[in-house]
Amino acid sequence: DVTIDQLTDWLRRFQVLVTEHQTELTELDSVIGDADHGANMTRGMNAVAAKLDSEEFESVAELFKAVGMTLVTSVGGASGPLYGTFFLRFGMNAGAVTTLDAAGTAASLRAGLGGIVARGKAEQGDKTMFDAMSPAIDAWDAAVAAGESAAQASAAALAAAEVGRDATIPLVARKGRASYLGDRSAGHLDPGAASTTLLFRALSDALG
Ligand code: ADP
Ligand code: MG
Ligand code: MG
Repeated sequence: DVTIDQLTDWLRRFQVLVTEHQTELTELDSVIGDADHGANMTRGMNAVAAKLDSEEFESVAELFKAVGMTLVTSVGGASGPLYGTFFLRFGMNAGAVTTLDAAGTAASLRAGLGGIVARGKAEQGDKTMFDAMSPAIDAWDAAVAAGESAAQASAAALAAAEVGRDATIPLVARKGRASYLGDRSAGHLDPGAASTTLLFRALSDALG
């Protein structure tokens, strides 16, 4: 099972990864956006890490409520409310528990993705974080259906996120700032798909 300590480790690893990749995320966003995705994600996850340092959480729901609220309130860009809603819904789906099994983790990830869609209305192929996250969760579900552990499922999800991320390169953006560029957005990797792949890398590292 996935414990609340491993989920906390996931968040800490995500903070480290977005910090390490801050320049790269901002460079991606400078090409098809406004050059702040690295700064947005680092600011948000630094605020989350400070929250983790200063508070104790009794349940997965409580933990992710705090994380989601912190991101929504500390990040100005589109990514703050989107990732914030992802974590809020993840926690709401998990409920007042301290562990999740592999299927329960998948269900919470799926609920989180539902929050992103409710907020941003993205569909497959719009060249957003959805394009990395949706196939990652599909791969997680397939792994669970094949009887694999959460650690194995998270590795499969990471591999699928990487494929989905890279598949955003030829796409024309239909959501967010990159959509203002129209056809000129094609040929460049989506910054949010890159940060979402780091989210799944952090989860796989935390469970592996
Ligand atoms: P902003 O665009 O406000 O500067 P960021 O640069 O932090 O915010 O985040 C941009 C990323 O957010 C994009 O690369 C894309 O993946 C994601 N994004 C933008 N709009 C949407 C949306 N409507 N649905 C899903 N993801 C979106
Ligand atoms: Mg931006
Ligand atoms: Mg911005």
